[in-house]
Amino acid sequence: AKTAGKRQWRKYQPELQSGMAERAKLQEGLDNSPIETSFLVLYQPIVELTTGQIAGFEALVRWPHSTRGMVLPEQFITLAEESGQIVPLGAWVLDQATAEAVRMQTSVRHDASGRKEPYISVNVSPRQFRDDEFYNVVRRALDLSGIEPSALVLELTESVLMYNDERILAEMSALTDLGIRIAIDDFGTGYSSLSYLREFPISILKIDKSFVDELGRSPEQYALVEGITHLSDTLGLTVIAEGVENVRQQELLISMGCRLAQGYLFAEPVSAEEAEQLILSPPLGRLADIRATPAKR
Ligand code: C2E
Ligand code: MG
Ligand code: MG
Ligand code: MG
Repeated sequence: AKTAGKRQWRKYQPELQSGMAERAKLQEGLDNSPIETSFLVLYQPIVELTTGQIAGFEALVRWPHSTRGMVLPEQFITLAEESGQIVPLGAWVLDQATAEAVRMQTSVRHDASGRKEPYISVNVSPRQFRDDEFYNVVRRALDLSGIEPSALVLELTESVLMYNDERILAEMSALTDLGIRIAIDDFGTGYSSLSYLREFPISILKIDKSFVDELGRSPEQYALVEGITHLSDTLGLTVIAEGVENVRQQELLISMGCRLAQGYLFAEPVSAEEAEQLILSPPLGRLADIRATPAKR
């Protein structure tokens, strides 16, 4: 085993080194990127499955880069967490997203169609959440934007709740006392026991894309997602299915009583300007199209 380990080490070392060099370059690039001018926030609609109406948007950060193109969060969020840059970056995303949400709500209010004003959902990394100033950062974003606290959702992952820490409960309660809601992102992919769903003030579960992907492929996967949906109903939680890409998934989710979803079937993450247009456009998704235009069929 020792020799095999050694061989493996030798074999992978060059790749590892170029990986590390690449990481170091990305890190340097991040360190030299002023937050206010270097990043971009895109918005993906969260849609009512049966009507295609937009209920809210998720804010998703991007790093437009002169030579690398649009760098996705997968490639830099971990680095930003390690360096601590996620703290100011996350605060900036929160400010941008809440301000943008207020603009979208204003245009919906001025539109006569009777659409609902969208809420905004913002990802919060564990490091950001554990930062002592986080509560103040959220309060500041509420004050600066003037957004109704009930129109703001913070997305946390199960990893934040893994340690059943009194401080985490106190922090979450302080935030929900402001009137904002907390969602568990990528639900089902962490190792946490389910008891936290009772213990923490959580309003929303976002079912991870990996479950949605497998939805039509096996009765077991269907039962799993249906189980999560029913559990949520019982506990009074809202469920959002992530990564819905086809009408079959949409129909299966509707059949199990899931009301909300996000996915390329409805819309990819778009710029603030496009999001403002989408919110005033006809319903999203093909099922909604089919139902809205029966004469054409
Ligand atoms: P997430 O919060 O689970 O966000 C959903 C991800 O799935 C987004 O990727 C979105 O573009 C993608 N997605 C949505 N619908 C579909 C679909 O139908 N098919 C496929 N293949 N993908 C879909 P994105 O924007 O690359 O973000 C990846 C992750 O990075 C996010 O996962 C989130 O954990 C993190 N992230 C993004 N923005 C922020 C941020 O501002 N702060 C922090 N801390 N994390 C962020
Ligand atoms: Mg998310
Ligand atoms: Mg997710
Ligand atoms: Mg994810």
